Amino acid sequence: MPGYTLNLRCPCGFRKKDVWVGVTEDYLHLTFGICLDCKKIFALQCKPGGKLPTTCHQCGMKLLTPDAPGAWEPAELQQKFPATEPWLVESEFHRLPEKEAKTYCLIEDIRLLCPKCGKYALNYKEDTLWD
Ligand SMILES: [Zn+2]
Ligand SMILES: [Zn+2]
Repeated sequence: MPGYTLNLRCPCGFRKKDVWVGVTEDYLHLTFGICLDCKKIFALQCKPGGKLPTTCHQCGMKLLTPDAPGAWEPAELQQKFPATEPWLVESEFHRLPEKEAKTYCLIEDIRLLCPKCGKYALNYKEDTLWD
């Protein structure tokens, strides 16, 4: 099962490098949670059949995972791919009817909610693809 190492950056100065997302060969699910209260991003993982933590271990607030509603924009695009992590949208696109293809260009506008400035401005770059 593949995954990515992401490099997250926001124009406000927020940076987070080497964030692992995906599923490892022993089926460990890796993702991250955005805590707007701590203004941080925390790496999360869960074992097969397990559950990801839903609250921040530091402050107890609800964590926003990248597949949650409202975790990224454009909202128009997220509505078509509910519960999808943004870096997987491109590969899921073939499931849409052909007339939806014009929505494809919205992929370039995908931004995650930044924990520091609270805006949809957090850019992600897939640094490494791992298996
Ligand atoms: Zn927190
Ligand atoms: Zn920001």
